[in-house]
Amino acid sequence: MNIKITEINARSIITKSNLPDADYVINPYVGCTHACVYCYARFMRRFTGHNEPWGSFIDVKINAEELFPRNMDKYSNKSVFLSSVTDPYNSLEKEYRITRNILKKLISVQPVLSIQSKSSLITRDIDLLREFKNCRVGLTITSDTNETAKILEPGASGIDDRLTTLKMLHENNIDAYVFIGPILPYITNWKKIIDMTKKFVTMYMFENANLHGTIWKDVKNTVNNNFSDLSQKYDYFYAHRNEYWDKEESDIITYCTENDINHKMYFDHKKIRKN
Ligand code: SF4
Repeated sequence: MNIKITEINARSIITKSNLPDADYVINPYVGCTHACVYCYARFMRRFTGHNEPWGSFIDVKINAEELFPRNMDKYSNKSVFLSSVTDPYNSLEKEYRITRNILKKLISVQPVLSIQSKSSLITRDIDLLREFKNCRVGLTITSDTNETAKILEPGASGIDDRLTTLKMLHENNIDAYVFIGPILPYITNWKKIIDMTKKFVTMYMFENANLHGTIWKDVKNTVNNNFSDLSQKYDYFYAHRNEYWDKEESDIITYCTENDINHKMYFDHKKIRKN
């Protein structure tokens, strides 16, 4: 896919977070070249004047470093998360190094740093990550084969590369976790993902796919075109999604508890039920 790249002067770079586990959040880019079919962040197009399809544009915040205040003490020991509506290691980061330069800035204040990515490019910055006393890196994994990942997350690293990334983080004593989410019905084999990764990580996070509106349409089209044997199951799932997620949530908790697996659940389907 051709990516429209725009260098921008952003107005802010570190903002107060409304995520449950972070005080501040940093998004070095607008848009994301991973182009995941289930991406929840595509709403950003509305706020940033983009009409292009999600995944086909990216704005690079070239002034990111200058946007940090001179006195950064207030971030010391606060939890800082990269990133909520982009991948800080999307393909542009290789050339622009915006995330790398942000990390250099943050070392002096030692926040509680948390980074989540689907890219092996993060291994480039292991030297900096090792400088943080409190740092955790998550790799998102939603499927267990390179072929499926290529369909779901065409711009991201393959699953083999993500496993190698976890291994490298582990070997460098960087606390790593796997974010299994959004869990896609009948596609995300979370038990298999746990088996593939458990040697390298200290925790798992689980999130259900919030399939609604255009996200549901795009995911359903992807299923129809690439996993046609699941088409009818997806229709059934959609009609019974709260029951499906109740069972999935309960199965995960039971499995993790019985196998002594450190885990956190981010299932929000009960909110769907209320609406
Ligand atoms: S990596 Fe995250 S922000 Fe980027 S396209 Fe995928 S889901 Fe969206």
